Amino acid sequence: MHLPFIRSVKDVELRNQKVLVRADLNVPIKNGVVTSDARITASLATIKFALDAGASVVVMSHLGRPTEGQYVDEFSLAPVAQRLGQLLGRNVPLLAQPEDCPSIDFGEIGLLENVRFLAGEKSNSAELSQRLADQCDVFVMDAFGTAHRAHASTHGVAERATTACAGLLLDAELKAFQTTLSAPQKPMVAIIGGAKVSTKLEVLGSLTDIADRIIVGGGIANTFIAAAGYDIGKSLYEPDLLDVAKTIASRVEIPIPVDVMVGKVFDEATPAIVKAIDNVADDEMIMDIGPKTARAWAETLIDAQTIMWNGPLGVFEFDQFGEGTRVLAQAIAESSAYSIAGGGDTLAAVDKYSVTNGISYISTGGGAFLELVEGKVLPAVEMLGRRSA
Ligand code: AMP
Repeated sequence: MHLPFIRSVKDVELRNQKVLVRADLNVPIKNGVVTSDARITASLATIKFALDAGASVVVMSHLGRPTEGQYVDEFSLAPVAQRLGQLLGRNVPLLAQPEDCPSIDFGEIGLLENVRFLAGEKSNSAELSQRLADQCDVFVMDAFGTAHRAHASTHGVAERATTACAGLLLDAELKAFQTTLSAPQKPMVAIIGGAKVSTKLEVLGSLTDIADRIIVGGGIANTFIAAAGYDIGKSLYEPDLLDVAKTIASRVEIPIPVDVMVGKVFDEATPAIVKAIDNVADDEMIMDIGPKTARAWAETLIDAQTIMWNGPLGVFEFDQFGEGTRVLAQAIAESSAYSIAGGGDTLAAVDKYSVTNGISYISTGGGAFLELVEGKVLPAVEMLGRRSA
């Protein structure tokens, strides 16, 4: 992984400066209340750093996918302003327009309303980028979760602001990925789960060059199991990717489970039945690895020095199909390896099985996580590199 030199917020004078921080505060909200504030707490370090340094701090973020150029209550950041205020122990006013930024005094903070209400955000328009850049002396990019998108608030503003630098979260994320991808301690095991091979195909391809072993789980595993010649009944899989799966499996060790948990319908109440891998019936669906496999795979993690985890090993939202994910999550947490985990479902599993403390680095990235592993340069990171040169 090639990382350009990027100026950190720690290297920039912030006292009496107008600072605009792009954070990723795209959090789940139900009935006007934030239901998981993980992304807000992950953004606090940079916000507090800038406040303590005596800057006027305006934070901006997107939330959901509103129609650009139109305000709707449903996607307002008002609940986020409230939660951020509680976490900081101070009032965080919501600013309707970028031009409201100067109303924030030095040592004070405001939150700009959803940047996706602004026309030109997603197209990275020069006009909106300049409008945002005009509001600040220093632009701080801290939204790792959105760094793979070249939008006005992540890329265009970084190009045009007087000074542009990385926030503490972005810096920590990039360093964690560099540790994992550039010269990982060997052996390295990657655990890639989830619904479809197609969404993680490039990741699997890149990992064959880096990892010593790839454990595949979920619907992804089903495609590899079918490619190995087993009947998988009516399991979710991708028939058009069987040859691709065979090629990947010929380049790196990908273990096939010896037993699996099957169900007859995709439903929360479906009973889970243990089956040997060569005994799956036509009307059954593989929804998790079996107990023997889970134990054996957990043991193979003992000698790992680096572990990368993205995606659940089964339909863990249904408790009876969550054991594979739980056992592996605990093995990762107990291992002395440097471990990195990320992705929306993975973080939900980390939470569900209370393994946060055992994982070396928990990434806030989903798409950005995958793109870094694929070997891509994140556009916002590339721009910060150019501005730091
Ligand atoms: P992804 O978004 O690709 O990481 O996929 C995560 C989703 O894959 C979760 O909602 C899981 O419930 C689902 N999943 C995992 N294993 C299976 C499986 N064997 N069959 C169907 N869906 C699965």
